[in-house]
Amino acid sequence: MIATSFDYTRAQSLDEAIAKLKGAGGAGKLIAGGHSLVPLMKLRLSEPGLLIDIARIPGLAGIKKVGDRIEIGAGTVHHDVATSPLLRDACPMLAEAAASIGDQQVRNRGTIGGSLAHADPAADYPAAMLALDTDIHIRGASGARVSKAATFFRGLFTVDLGPEEIITSVQFTPIKTAAYAKLHQRASHFAIVGVAAALELSGGTITSARIGVTGATPSAKRLSAVEQQLSGKKASEETIAAASKNAGKDLQDVNSDLHASADYRRAMVAVFTRRALTSALARAR
Ligand SMILES: Cc1cc2nc3c(=O)[nH]c(=O)nc-3n(C[C@H](O)[C@H](O)[C@H](O)COP(=O)(O)OP(=O)(O)OC[C@H]3O[C@@H](n4cnc5c(N)ncnc54)[C@H](O)[C@@H]3O)c2cc1C
Repeated sequence: MIATSFDYTRAQSLDEAIAKLKGAGGAGKLIAGGHSLVPLMKLRLSEPGLLIDIARIPGLAGIKKVGDRIEIGAGTVHHDVATSPLLRDACPMLAEAAASIGDQQVRNRGTIGGSLAHADPAADYPAAMLALDTDIHIRGASGARVSKAATFFRGLFTVDLGPEEIITSVQFTPIKTAAYAKLHQRASHFAIVGVAAALELSGGTITSARIGVTGATPSAKRLSAVEQQLSGKKASEETIAAASKNAGKDLQDVNSDLHASADYRRAMVAVFTRRALTSALARAR
């Protein structure tokens, strides 16, 4: 299908983009990489009257250290996250998750801000954002605010973001002992199940764990029961096997579609939780 007709404008700054969103009175939509929005427009599931292009706003893309944290601009494309030397060294899990997104064309155009705002239930970044306990920085007409990843993802394609707000960046404390493991859908590479696991270790003990899962439920979730089971235990293969065994059993409202049934997805949550945790632990050695 062909999208309904729309006007197009390019914003040169965040303030201009926010003003244009406001001026469009509900008919405006931001476009970054266009790799989620354009397919929706072609299906006529989204019919914006005005597209506001934010892809070339100076300073909206980039990866940098801010003290002991890392900041990624919302306009940063997946390829740059996947290949960033800073991330590959300090937080390889996130580079790994980005590298697993779609194909090279998608990674060259799609942005982290677009992915988080769109919140596809099978998107990879949400699981990683949960495991990194990320702060999502947002700007709107009434100023700037921060939303924690734990409360940002609210439901199917639903996030803590107003219609006239823009995600500007994400910030997190990098962690080396973290990994992403994904069962992907063969054609699109979207996650049937994707698990991001981050382990805090001290002297051979897991002091805390954060595990985000995507693909399994309408929006990404933390696996709190597994996290609790790991906390305070010896960092070993046996601990991981015992904790992952029941991963996903307590998940409600598990997705079922032509790619995988709910039962299969639930079973795969346990398998990929174990794989992500095993790889995270291997990074400690
Ligand atoms: C063939 C194909 C395969 C794919 N495979 C995967 C995959 O394996 N894993 C995966 O995670 N994703 C996958 N994707 C989705 C891809 O990652 C998209 O790039 C991403 O979801 C959206 O980013 P975008 O920059 O293209 O956003 P756009 O399509 O431009 O925008 C998406 C939505 O976000 C809003 N938006 C954009 N930027 C901002 C911002 N800064 N602040 C607020 N709102 C904003 C837009 O208004 C729109 O509603 C795939 C896409 C395609 C086409």
